[in-house]
Amino acid sequence: MIEIVHTAACVACDVCVKVCPTDVFERGEDGVPVIARQSDCQTCFMCEAYCPVDALYVSPVSAPVGADSPHADVDAVLRNGLFGGYREMVGWGHGRTPGALLDRNPVLKAVPPLPESRLPPPSTLAGSPWNHPAD
Ligand code: SF4
Ligand code: SF4
Repeated sequence: MIEIVHTAACVACDVCVKVCPTDVFERGEDGVPVIARQSDCQTCFMCEAYCPVDALYVSPVSAPVGADSPHADVDAVLRNGLFGGYREMVGWGHGRTPGALLDRNPVLKAVPPLPESRLPPPSTLAGSPWNHPAD
């Protein structure tokens, strides 16, 4: 659940306000977002992923952690390098490798016939599993 907006790092770009699917944030008068409806957060991490300056922290639990938790403490989250931690993990941001390029999930060995098989395959697919020549 969204826990912290690091106000000193925020550049008031509004991106988190726009990407949040459940409208958790309100834009403050200074442009820095305010967590206005925390209970509406669905812990999707999208705001953290999209924040260009790693100014947000979404905790990995789906309920508020409470004021005494280190997960709600700016200094503790800073010390542990957790602002934008999800964004770093998925490899978004300058100098990072996109997670999709590091994915080690099994490669599809077989694919079902595609509706497009009625069309000739693009030449770049010839000889690949995506090529389904008509019998
Ligand atoms: S984690 Fe998802 S639902 Fe929660 S504030 Fe961020 S974008 Fe909104
Ligand atoms: S995306 Fe990041 S920098 Fe932009 S308004 Fe939200 S917290 Fe601030």
